[in-house]
Amino acid sequence: MFSLTHWQNNPTWENWVGYVQATPEQKLIPDTVAAIQDIVKTARQHGKRIRVTGAAHSFSGCAQPEEIALSLHHMRGLIEVNKEAQEATLYAGTYLYEIGDALREHGLALENMGDVQAQTLAGAVSTATHGTGISLGSIANQVVAWEWVDGCGKLHQHRRGDPATDELGNALHASLGMLGIFTKLTIRVVPMYGLKEQNQRLEFADAVAQFEQGIHQHRHLEWFLFPGTHKLQQKTLSVIEPKPMSRRQKMKDSFDSRLVLNGAFYLLCELARKFPSYVLKVSQISANSIPNVQREGYSYEVFPTPRGVKFNETEYFIDLNDFTACITEVNEALAKDIKGSHFPIEVRTHKGESGMLSPTQGRDCAVLSFHVYQGMDCEPLFNWVNDYMKKWHARPHWGKVNKLDAAEIRHLYPQLKRFLEIRADYDPDKVFINRWLEQKFMV
Ligand SMILES: Cc1cc2nc3c(=O)[nH]c(=O)nc-3n(C[C@H](O)[C@H](O)[C@H](O)COP(=O)(O)OP(=O)(O)OC[C@H]3O[C@@H](n4cnc5c(N)ncnc54)[C@H](O)[C@@H]3O)c2cc1C
Repeated sequence: MFSLTHWQNNPTWENWVGYVQATPEQKLIPDTVAAIQDIVKTARQHGKRIRVTGAAHSFSGCAQPEEIALSLHHMRGLIEVNKEAQEATLYAGTYLYEIGDALREHGLALENMGDVQAQTLAGAVSTATHGTGISLGSIANQVVAWEWVDGCGKLHQHRRGDPATDELGNALHASLGMLGIFTKLTIRVVPMYGLKEQNQRLEFADAVAQFEQGIHQHRHLEWFLFPGTHKLQQKTLSVIEPKPMSRRQKMKDSFDSRLVLNGAFYLLCELARKFPSYVLKVSQISANSIPNVQREGYSYEVFPTPRGVKFNETEYFIDLNDFTACITEVNEALAKDIKGSHFPIEVRTHKGESGMLSPTQGRDCAVLSFHVYQGMDCEPLFNWVNDYMKKWHARPHWGKVNKLDAAEIRHLYPQLKRFLEIRADYDPDKVFINRWLEQKFMV
């Protein structure tokens, strides 16, 4: 979680896992749109680059601030709700964990969420952060209107039009802060709902056979495949009447997170880190201890899971039609050589969307995420994933590690050239470009 004290007292900046670091010349926390406009105008005059950062939960260098780091920590909260249109306008710096309660007061909720809620709304939108569900898109897809300050300090508003013709909306959709600093976002919301979570252990072959049916039967379906074991945890979420999570469940979650995530799983991770020959054993122990967890509550209470153990992550989106072939090869390859990581491979689904830089552009997708425990060597697994995924024309999650170069990215994103033209209109002097963006997009 973002800490204001850490931001103010520490000259350095680092991401959640600590692998991406920076020592920006200035760290600023504006509290008005006018203050942001002044900062941008001054930076442009002096040839300085700005990176606005959210909760630093990206694993990639997309948020790395090299000269001026900006936090919108003082620009948070719900501004207005249009219940009839089912839209809510929020300050861009609002943390996702602040949205659930604020919307519930109006009988509303977010359509979908990922598995943590420490991110800011703008950060999550900018990288197209997603949950799981084949009928559901990313949080970027929920945005119906943007307000932002461009690279000249000018304030803009845009309301999303027909995705077939709305070029600016499709450029803003997942734009990594390259068109400017979002100050307000209006999102499409839904009537509040409850969720019931169920988990079960499945043999890999059985799970694959049931997958197609499962993703249509359950609003949310997710796998955690334990490498080298041919076993997985299948988690499903079904919609129920909205009701708060019981105190007992909250206490159990908190106990489990302390004992299981920070306790038992942490010790297993440390075992694997200190003795890499135990990596497969740790994966087997984890697969054999899949808990039969059942949880119920308001949607925003059930979506997030506590993450007590830190890791690094890479993630790719493939065409849903390729999923069975791809996951079968992944499972076989990791059974032969576990590539140094015991962490389960997460599998989710995602509806196709229209953003020019959206990893799901134009196709429904399966999403595969690969994790390596903090302090362990990511290279063997991440290098293999990066090369292997080329076979499937897989697109990377912008907030996670990817090793693609600009030519490969250009090939995967047919509208990139147009995106960069639109980008240049709003930020001609590259105030919002850092080295990572330069390398990936050759801006
Ligand atoms: C433990 C963990 C779990 C995660 N789970 C998921 C998950 O379930 N699903 C998923 O898809 N991703 C997941 N992620 C990735 C994460 O959701 C994204 O990387 C997200 O962008 C992080 O949000 P943030 O607020 O920390 O933004 P940052 O990482 O700080 O920034 C992300 C990008 O947004 C830009 N940005 C931030 N604020 C603004 C603004 N006001 N205007 C314009 N641009 C802005 C930044 O410049 C940067 O390019 C997870 C990450 C972690 C560490």
